[in-house]
Amino acid sequence: MSEPSGSPRHAERSKLVDRARKLDAGDELRAKREEFVLDDTVYLDGNSLGALPRAVPARVADVVAREWGELRIRSWTESGWWTAPERIGDRIAPLIGAAPGQVVVGDSTSVNIFKALVAAVRLVDDDTRDEILVDATTFPTDGYIAESAARMTGRRLVPVAPGELASALGPRTAAALVNHVDYRAGCLHDLPGLTAAVHDAGALAVWDLCHSAGALPVDVDAHGVDLAVGCTYKYLNGGPGSPAYLYVRAGHQERFDSPLPGWNSHADPFGMTAGYVPAAGAPRGRVGTPDILSMLALEAALDVWDGVRIEAVRAKSLALTDFFLECVEAYVPKGRAESVTPAAHPERGSQVSLRCADAAAVMERLIARGVVGDHRRPDILRFGFTPLYVSFADVERAGAVLGEVLSA
Ligand SMILES: *Cc1c(COP(=O)(O)O)cnc(C)c1O
Repeated sequence: MSEPSGSPRHAERSKLVDRARKLDAGDELRAKREEFVLDDTVYLDGNSLGALPRAVPARVADVVAREWGELRIRSWTESGWWTAPERIGDRIAPLIGAAPGQVVVGDSTSVNIFKALVAAVRLVDDDTRDEILVDATTFPTDGYIAESAARMTGRRLVPVAPGELASALGPRTAAALVNHVDYRAGCLHDLPGLTAAVHDAGALAVWDLCHSAGALPVDVDAHGVDLAVGCTYKYLNGGPGSPAYLYVRAGHQERFDSPLPGWNSHADPFGMTAGYVPAAGAPRGRVGTPDILSMLALEAALDVWDGVRIEAVRAKSLALTDFFLECVEAYVPKGRAESVTPAAHPERGSQVSLRCADAAAVMERLIARGVVGDHRRPDILRFGFTPLYVSFADVERAGAVLGEVLSA
């Protein structure tokens, strides 16, 4: 800051710097930061692409040089490649509150949304239920895929704001696809309440966990979620384009009828028979040959979760976002940026979105000064807070730099 010491701005800043130091000292996840490759950039874009865990490069090098280079085809069995999708699914399961055997890793989130939504309509198996509800504020891919899934299953797609979902449900609803945390404003939707409302209407609930898994407790089993999907390159740090996952509740697995029944989901894939017989359990959600390099990078990335309580992650996430809002309030000139993220904790994900004129240019200046977030057109600055590696000192610096950029 350019203010001379003794000025009110300087006093405010040293107060918040001091608070950050105390909050960092009391942070039980503080040591986790060492498990990531970071520099002196304040990285607040882990909700788009998580930072690289230190263990990943050596593991990927080994997979390439030894498992592929030396063992070649033998690795499908000897290195456990073939069973990686369900094995890694079981590593993700505890992070979303799922018992083992219900999560399979593979394909993109978009593809898994398609599988889950079509399968949900097939599970309901009732032609009088001719509507699919979709979160109207959702990440666009969810809406695009849902529209096609509706067309293919002969249903009508009904986009509704999450706040109006409960009143839109009825005897015609087959399934509802909802986002747990809105990617744009960072609102956390009521997963237990909405899932119960969907069930009361006799329909199935499909949740998109892209912006919640790894940032807060989801508890899919406890809340009776039917199907869920999520990506692994945001808060799970799996790397660019790392494979997504599909959760199919145990009680639905036997009747789960995939619209993409590739040979990897066959009960006996190497039988190479003409007739399709679905595998039991989570592997029924597989399609074709898994992308082993990305998948095993993800597996190594998941080591950072060893010994981490997701409740501690949530507590730190809320403390980080609270502190960021406080820094914005202290440093940003009034009226220059306004939070669109809910102030109430039960409605907040792990990001803060600020409405700000010239958001694109502002973010460019922030990045040039070492504070990396992103923007969503036309006027949203997004800051994601990954509790495993973002410190309170980072948050204070981000707030101060934003204040300087917006005061210029
Ligand atoms: C990030 C994200 C996606 C990404 O889908 P891909 O198929 O991985 O590109 C989908 N839905 C939501 C809600 C997301 O936040």
